Parts: sequence; structure tokens; C-alpha cells
Amino acid sequence: MEYFLQNLGKIVESKDIQGASGGAVEWARRVRELRNEDGYQILSHKDRANLKPNQYLMETSKRLPSFARNISKETRARVLERNGFTCQMCGLAAGDHDPFNASRTVRLTMGHIIDKSKGGSDTAENLRAVCTNCNEGLQNTSLPKPDRIHLLSQIRRATIDDQKAVLDWLAEKFNLEISAKD
Ligand SMILES: [Zn+2]
Repeated sequence: MEYFLQNLGKIVESKDIQGASGGAVEWARRVRELRNEDGYQILSHKDRANLKPNQYLMETSKRLPSFARNISKETRARVLERNGFTCQMCGLAAGDHDPFNASRTVRLTMGHIIDKSKGGSDTAENLRAVCTNCNEGLQNTSLPKPDRIHLLSQIRRATIDDQKAVLDWLAEKFNLEISAKD
């Protein structure tokens, strides 16, 4: 761990990690533990195409929240697709402008429907897409879902361009081939 912290942002090789660990045979298991159990973002060739199989990179000492550590890529992809790549708390979509940071776009992460501390699992059924802002508690996450009449009235009042954007989004979400007539 100390070795990774000293080499933050630098690519390190397996032999150096093993050397730093005092020649421990089990160094690879320790790296896995740091990733999966402690949440350190130690990248390997599986995460980055420019890393070779014996190379590792830790860019930040920031740890992933405990719930994000053991969810497979497949589960993540399934949940994101099911939720239309949209934060289920605030409604922002991946790639929208981040309201808290003008230089960034919205990024989505996995949130638990039933909290892990209350026995919730890491299965797709118990997961939902949540943006990093909602996940960090930056937004008012108690925002209730809009009721149908209010939602429809908002769309009816919107500009044609915005209505078309809504139509495009719905068409994509429901896999429909629709295009607005001019
Ligand atoms: Zn959100």
C-alpha cells in the first residue's frame, strides 16, 4: 500500500511491487485485496489498454465506496441499460452537463435500492443507476418522482425543440423507431 501511495500516478511493475513487499509470494493476492476489499483504484491491463499484463497504476488514493467494489461489469451494464443510463434519483443522464462542475459531464455509478447495511445484495435487481453527485449526497435526493399530470403539462408547455428531445429520449429508451414530423 505504501509503495502504491509513493508511486501515485506512475506505472509500476509486478517485480517492483513484489520487491517493495519484501519478496512476498502472495503480493498479487494483496493487490486484489486492496482493490476488492479496501476499494483502492489500482488499475491493471484489464482496466487500461495501455498497461501491460505485469503493470499496475494507482492514480488516486481515493477509495471507491464499499458498495461499488464487487459488482461485475455485466451487472453494471445491465442495470445502466435498464435505467436508460439515467440517474434514478435526480433524472440526469450520463453525459449531461454536471450541474456541480461545469467542466464535467454527469457520471453514473451503482446505488443499492435496499442498502447493504440492511441486508441488500449486489444483484442487478437490488441496484440502480445513480449519478456521482446524488451518490455523494450533493443533490436533494428526496426529490419525489414527478406525477404524470405535472410531467405531461410540463412537456406540453415546452418548446417544440424540447418536446422533440423528449421524444428522441423516449424512442431510444424504448427502442422505438420514431421521428417527429416537421
Ligand atoms: Zn443524480
